[in-house]
Amino acid sequence: CGIVGYVGPRESQDILLAGLARLEYRGYDSAGIAVIDADGELHAAKKAGKLARLREQLDLAPIPAGTTGIGHTRWATHGGPTDENAHPHLADDDRLAVIHNGIIENFAELRAELTAQGYTFRSQTDTEVAAVLLGREYRAHDGDLVAAFRSVASRLQGAFTLLAMHKDLPGLVVGARRNSPLVIGLGEGENFLGSDVAAFVEHTRRALAIGQDQIVAITPDAVTVTDFDGNEVEASPFEVMWDA
Ligand code: GLU
Repeated sequence: CGIVGYVGPRESQDILLAGLARLEYRGYDSAGIAVIDADGELHAAKKAGKLARLREQLDLAPIPAGTTGIGHTRWATHGGPTDENAHPHLADDDRLAVIHNGIIENFAELRAELTAQGYTFRSQTDTEVAAVLLGREYRAHDGDLVAAFRSVASRLQGAFTLLAMHKDLPGLVVGARRNSPLVIGLGEGENFLGSDVAAFVEHTRRALAIGQDQIVAITPDAVTVTDFDGNEVEASPFEVMWDA
């Protein structure tokens, strides 16, 4: 029920965990993060239970620091609250990490289509179906993650905020939303995504609202918002007024 994304010069793990902690009020049963490290390797950690459980796991089995990252708190809808069903879900041979809030209504049909094509699944979630589909479309679109998102968005029914990053594209986080929240936080040489401004308000008060059925790509220096047809759209800036 909470989403946070970061690209910039700083180690993202603490930023992700602090952002998730600020989103705790939304409720959740599992948590997870993924980062891309300086060698371009993707690492993920996820755990059923409270954020403290994920922190414990990260203390026991640390993952390398990374400056591109995504974090998630889950409110299970498809598949029980287990470690396997927690997000991120990995696809494209563990090169792609995906997190999702919401419900993919046509996941069973998509899962059958992908299974028939030889794809396998490690969880019971609707989300992993979107992740595997995104991996397939990423390949079909020659490593253009935004084009892959457009293709996936046209296939998904239901409500979603989806965020993804690929190890071949460090410094990039792509998100999409339909009937589910997502806002952009604008920093200096760093940018953020969040379910709401609480995810990044301790770092920046400059934010951009994005509309429904839109895709956002953030790098440390740029934010690009397009609709599901690929047309660039203007996001509306606003200032976060409340106290952090
Ligand atoms: N439907 C997804 C799941 O059950 C996402 C739930 C959420 O919004 O956290 O894993």
